[in-house]
Amino acid sequence: MKLSSMLLNTLKEDPRDAEVPSHRLMLRAGMIKRLASGIYSYLPYGLKALRRVENIVRQEMDNAGSQEVLLPGVQPSELWKESGRWDLYGKELLRFKDRKGAEFCLGPTHEEVITDLARREVTSYKDLPLILYQIQTKFRDEIRPRFGIMRAREFIMKDAYSFDRDDASAEKSYEIMFNTYERIFNRCGLDFKPVEADTGSIGGSFSHEFMVLAETGEDMILSCNNCKYAANVERAESLGPDSIGFSQAPKGKPNKVHTPGVKTISQVCEFLGVKQEKLVKTLVYNTSSGPVAAMVRGDHDVNEAKLRTLLGVSWIELADDKTVQEVTGAPVGFAGPVGLGIKVVADLSLVDGSPYVTGANEEDYHLTNVWLSRDARIDLVGDIRFTQPGEPCPRCKKGTLQGIRGIEVGHVFKLGLKYSKAMNAVFTDVDGEVKPMVMGCYGIGIGRTVAAAIEQNHDDSGIIFPVSIAPYPVLVLPVDVKQGPVMEHALRIYEDLKTAGIDVMMDDRDERPGVKFKDADLVGVPYRITVGKRSLDRGVVEVKERSTGKVEDVNPDNVVGYCRSILKDKGS
Ligand code: ATP
Ligand code: MG
Repeated sequence: MKLSSMLLNTLKEDPRDAEVPSHRLMLRAGMIKRLASGIYSYLPYGLKALRRVENIVRQEMDNAGSQEVLLPGVQPSELWKESGRWDLYGKELLRFKDRKGAEFCLGPTHEEVITDLARREVTSYKDLPLILYQIQTKFRDEIRPRFGIMRAREFIMKDAYSFDRDDASAEKSYEIMFNTYERIFNRCGLDFKPVEADTGSIGGSFSHEFMVLAETGEDMILSCNNCKYAANVERAESLGPDSIGFSQAPKGKPNKVHTPGVKTISQVCEFLGVKQEKLVKTLVYNTSSGPVAAMVRGDHDVNEAKLRTLLGVSWIELADDKTVQEVTGAPVGFAGPVGLGIKVVADLSLVDGSPYVTGANEEDYHLTNVWLSRDARIDLVGDIRFTQPGEPCPRCKKGTLQGIRGIEVGHVFKLGLKYSKAMNAVFTDVDGEVKPMVMGCYGIGIGRTVAAAIEQNHDDSGIIFPVSIAPYPVLVLPVDVKQGPVMEHALRIYEDLKTAGIDVMMDDRDERPGVKFKDADLVGVPYRITVGKRSLDRGVVEVKERSTGKVEDVNPDNVVGYCRSILKDKGS
């Protein structure tokens, strides 16, 4: 492609509202354009990168034996009512009515539609296992769209769904997809890590996220420095006490202390002269099965995802002030487990037998010397807090957990029977028995992968595309288009590279060399072939590698062979 005729308008200045490098650089390199909040157009240069990632994904999915389909973006509400998610999904689901008043939504994900397809198409165990995938536009009315296409409202996802006759076979499908994801992200040139993850609103029993490691990532990962354990902080387990049990015998009685206006953890600690770990933080939650009080140590925080999983409820939210008043008899800040009339859940770390300070369920009062084993009624004990960097590894128990930030580019889930049972997606097994199919689902954010690659590969001058996903791996740059021999050589190299099947761009604009070099760096072409009078006088052209800055002299007649071999080495 010749730049003189290409729709590629680069920006010299950083756009004001772009918070992260990938967003800034994608706008500056003319890859994307904002239409509305979280809704973007892909311009030719951006679309090329998107297609590169898509091609890698498509090849690897096909190689894994998965078959491509294309499902509708508009989905009828009936299917979502069958799965039970019409009421549960919340405001991210964009709902609307057609002219006849029938309810629809824009698909944020396709479990319902694919399960409906499978129940119609699959009848026998002979049709299984089956993995179907698509690359398609999703819509989620994200509460805070940001970072350009990284967290958009309309975005392109590869989503795949597996159907198996039993758990063992489903396990295999999961493994095939897991390995396929490793190959995909390796081929995209990314530094990534699969981590254990929470299953969120998709549901199911088990999942891994594929995280691209980057400081600007929205997700926090805890990773062991000794073994392979790595998990999203939403999911990361904490190493509990060796044994659960109140070993010490309680002494003395709880004391009610007047603590006027003392509400926050640090205020209570200061007022009573105790350490945060000697305090119990009691938080009241509304859940789908009624109000619950969750207790953690003062220096810990409740992890709502873990609490939701432990309770086995479909939703959970912090109670408002009015509910807290009704449930505890006191305003927010004075809740405690003693005498509380609702279900009480305690974090594992509280079960060590020592006396604690708690709220007294009375305005302006706290209790000291509370022995949970004697003074409180605890209904459930479990791991319900956020694990923190620096804590021991819950798996090997020897290593320490390090905190690193990541961008979630892919997610693989074991769904089990969640959708097939709800929607009656059954098959006849070899023994003649009718059974629900065991399902899995597997997503990759295609646009987010492009953005994450840029987040991980850039410098002050611009993007440094990994060769495999670069819109154009090679750029021919004639220094002065008015000089006959320079332009002749440049054109010949450009045509030869095209003939050789290499996607090449040529900067044939009549611009100052400085402008062209700056743009080449900004848009991140991996190899720049500079054709100039001075080097031609030496019988060479210069090939510069964007990632290392290394320059090599190459005979103009050998450029095609040279490019072929470097691109092959880089997995293009
Ligand atoms: P997140 O926690 O970032 O919201 P998610 O858990 O909701 O992601 P999934 O439902 O697992 O995401 O979707 C599969 C993939 O789709 C994600 O791994 C991510 O790469 C991509 N994705 C999800 N939401 C968005 C979005 N708003 N914009 C761009 N890509 C997205
Ligand atoms: Mg989400």
